[in-house]
Amino acid sequence: MGYKGKAVICREWNQPVSVEEIEVDSPAPNQVTVKIEAIGVCHSDLSATNGTMPLPPPVVLGHEACGKIVEVGEGVTEFAVGDKIIPCWIPICGKCQFCQEGRTTLCDDWGKGFLGPKDGTMPRRDKDGNVLHAFSGVGVMAEYSTMHVDNVIKIDPDTPADKAALVGCGVMTGVGAVINRAQVKPGSSCVARAARSPGPRPSSRSTWWTRSSSSPRPSAPPTPSTPRPMAMPSPR
Ligand SMILES: [Zn+2]
Ligand SMILES: [Zn+2]
Repeated sequence: MGYKGKAVICREWNQPVSVEEIEVDSPAPNQVTVKIEAIGVCHSDLSATNGTMPLPPPVVLGHEACGKIVEVGEGVTEFAVGDKIIPCWIPICGKCQFCQEGRTTLCDDWGKGFLGPKDGTMPRRDKDGNVLHAFSGVGVMAEYSTMHVDNVIKIDPDTPADKAALVGCGVMTGVGAVINRAQVKPGSSCVARAARSPGPRPSSRSTWWTRSSSSPRPSAPPTPSTPRPMAMPSPR
């Protein structure tokens, strides 16, 4: 069984995106399928359409969203059908040293799930049966998304979807900048300048990864010189 629905796809850099009907597989083990209820549009999505962020097309865009789980794969115990979730664009293993230290955005699995679930499956296809990549492995500018459980964060079911969707990237990046980079203390007065849509910003194409668009997976995690997103606060 799979799920059919529309999705926003970048088929070629520097060209308009297309809205197409795609098919999304039911979840494999340790995956869930989500019906997307709301999304945010991030500058990084734009960067994926012009090659600044060189995700090999065709790629389903989108990485901040809110939705409800409609199916869970074998072995999934922490989520159930009906759970309201937001996707996380870095799969968090919860076991490595960085995760244990609370620095989950530096997880050892960083880099494994850029184009699909971190287990290597590719659950999206276009109407001709061709495999589609997914932005950060989640590709949520779509009616349905199948993703690895390590990309999934359960939230309060009463949270409005349009608000919760923004937590997936914009809010956590902004809050992280204030708390971790600027180190603003409670009670401070401060000014924000040069506000822009946030998102991961690789320093160069060569350090992001090196495989061609025909390769389904990145060859290696980004080098240490690649700027990494700042620490992410836990959604409430
Ligand atoms: Zn980890
Ligand atoms: Zn973003």
